Amino acid sequence: MDDRMYDFVVVGAGPAGSHFAHKSAELGNEIIVLEGGKIGAPLSCSGHVSLDLWEYISDKNKSKLIQNEIFGARFHVKGVDGKAHTFYKNEPISNVIDRIELDRCLAKMAIDSGVEIKERHTVIGVKELKEKVVVKVRGPSGKEELDTKMVVGCDGPNSRVRRSLKLQEPKELLHGILGFDSTVDFGNFVDVYLNVPRFFSWRIPRGNAGVEYGIAGGADIDIIGEFEKLIDSQSVQIENRCSGMIPIGPPTSVSTKRGFLIGDAAGQTKPFTGGGIVYGLIASECAANVVNSDRTETIGIYEQNWRKRIGREIEMGKWIRKGYSLPQTVQSMGLRFFSGEIGVHMDRPTSLFSREQFEVMKSSRKVK
Ligand SMILES: Cc1cc2nc3c(=O)[nH]c(=O)nc-3n(C[C@H](O)[C@H](O)[C@H](O)COP(=O)(O)OP(=O)(O)OC[C@H]3O[C@@H](n4cnc5c(N)ncnc54)[C@H](O)[C@@H]3O)c2cc1C
Repeated sequence: MDDRMYDFVVVGAGPAGSHFAHKSAELGNEIIVLEGGKIGAPLSCSGHVSLDLWEYISDKNKSKLIQNEIFGARFHVKGVDGKAHTFYKNEPISNVIDRIELDRCLAKMAIDSGVEIKERHTVIGVKELKEKVVVKVRGPSGKEELDTKMVVGCDGPNSRVRRSLKLQEPKELLHGILGFDSTVDFGNFVDVYLNVPRFFSWRIPRGNAGVEYGIAGGADIDIIGEFEKLIDSQSVQIENRCSGMIPIGPPTSVSTKRGFLIGDAAGQTKPFTGGGIVYGLIASECAANVVNSDRTETIGIYEQNWRKRIGREIEMGKWIRKGYSLPQTVQSMGLRFFSGEIGVHMDRPTSLFSREQFEVMKSSRKVK
């Protein structure tokens, strides 16, 4: 029987949970992280991230994680055989990383700052009371209850904490599938195929880890069938497959008096790619910086701060995603206009209208 009163019980040891725990423990808080499975497993993510990731990871760990450097993307409008519109920088824009190792690395940083992480401990219920939260857990030695001043739901797209606290679900859940071909490929471009209604499929060169093919789409799409078509069109042998859900569109509130959500549980993803690793890390830091477990009103500051940091980017990302549903001729015209060298940051779609983007387009004579 654990009779401690934690400052925070964190549910889920993905990037959001481990990073929040790490940063908050550094401020002296007593924290336990409960992870239903094993850290990093099972894989259901491409691990394609902007260079901003490295603000959260030491140089020593960086070299362990990187699989490949990416300089740009080729967009294919008419299925996999269509003409490609290339967007690039003359320097790396992003990295393809070992996602399992990322989760382990962030968890180790949390442990080193004094956090206890318990794997194979699934949270089966959360009860919010006036003075505390009771977290019900099922672990290898049976069920137990933990008392905490606040609960933090970092338990991914199908968040149990979100349901228990009766918070709104994300606006949409996409289903994503990945498969890996063992061909070594250090190419510097990802391919994006605009051949799925309202989303896309992709090909990512992962260096020695092979080539990844993936697809995501809404519940109305036969995503397994579409994945098989993608694989057939590429004539490749797929060895491992995995899948996962991608929440799109954060609800208007991700918190209660003594509970709050971070990462996929809060729908903090890019609507036009589904990527959520960096947004989850940004939001974790927003929460760790301001939420004081003895002052429930500080949760409201987290709500404000994470929306200030990434809210506009998410809104802009929704507009970009609308482009996936335009007629192919209009898509081609738009892609032709913006293609070539770019000054855009992949996590900040508002940078499409930045001075840097304008200067790059001007120098490549597209804008007078
Ligand atoms: C196919 C696919 C491809 C993707 N590709 C990219 C990409 O290239 N780049 C990118 O940035 N993002 C990508 N994403 C999104 C990215 O994986 C997520 O945004 C990111 O993992 C969110 O981190 P998180 O910590 O919020 O949640 P998660 O990583 O989902 O971690 C949640 C953790 O909570 C645990 N958990 C769940 N329920 C419970 C419970 N009841 N009790 C205890 N533990 C629990 C889970 O086991 C898990 O470890 C992709 C997603 C999919 C599905």
